[in-house]
Amino acid sequence: MIGNRVKEEVLIPAYEGRAVVVPKGHYLCIIDVEGQQVGDFVCFNRDNHGEHVSPVHMRSSLSSIRLKEGDGLYSNLRRPLMTMVKDTVGKHDFFFPACDYYRYKMDFGLEEHPNCHDNLEKALKPFDLKYDVLPDPINWFMNNVLDDEGDYVIEPPLSKPGDFVMLQALVDVVVAVSACSQDLAPVNGWKVTPLKLQVLGGV
Ligand SMILES: [Zn+2]
Repeated sequence: MIGNRVKEEVLIPAYEGRAVVVPKGHYLCIIDVEGQQVGDFVCFNRDNHGEHVSPVHMRSSLSSIRLKEGDGLYSNLRRPLMTMVKDTVGKHDFFFPACDYYRYKMDFGLEEHPNCHDNLEKALKPFDLKYDVLPDPINWFMNNVLDDEGDYVIEPPLSKPGDFVMLQALVDVVVAVSACSQDLAPVNGWKVTPLKLQVLGGV
């Protein structure tokens, strides 16, 4: 069994982001505290900031737009940086970008709305990562449904209070997660709530 000793626990308040280091062999749980809350996620190789989890490479390496237990989270160098080892929900997205300043400005006419892009950058700041453009996210618990025409319909997440995904780091990684700040669409069930991160020891 997994040696589930909690080494670090971080609450991500609604409308905010947080980042943690997950050492090689250790586990990261991303917990949906109240349910129906999307977590936008980026992941960097701690020793090579030019390598990061890359959704477009994941779609290619997995030949899929869905994630299953045992799948690798592939990087732009086409190798997995983490593996998803446990998933109590079974529905996630790695197709959509993080919500950002322009999403709220262009689509809603709002200049000051919190957004995942800025939440993630703020959370990563203390780690002094060198990158030019924030990578695209995996959106844990995001429930995009493909209709018969091949168009996406965004539905509220299927996650219930306490649902989680557990990831294992294959190298030392820096991970940031944002409690998606979108409260003007169904993506978080019209209400933004907290998430929790737990870093667990390896076997
Ligand atoms: Zn968002």
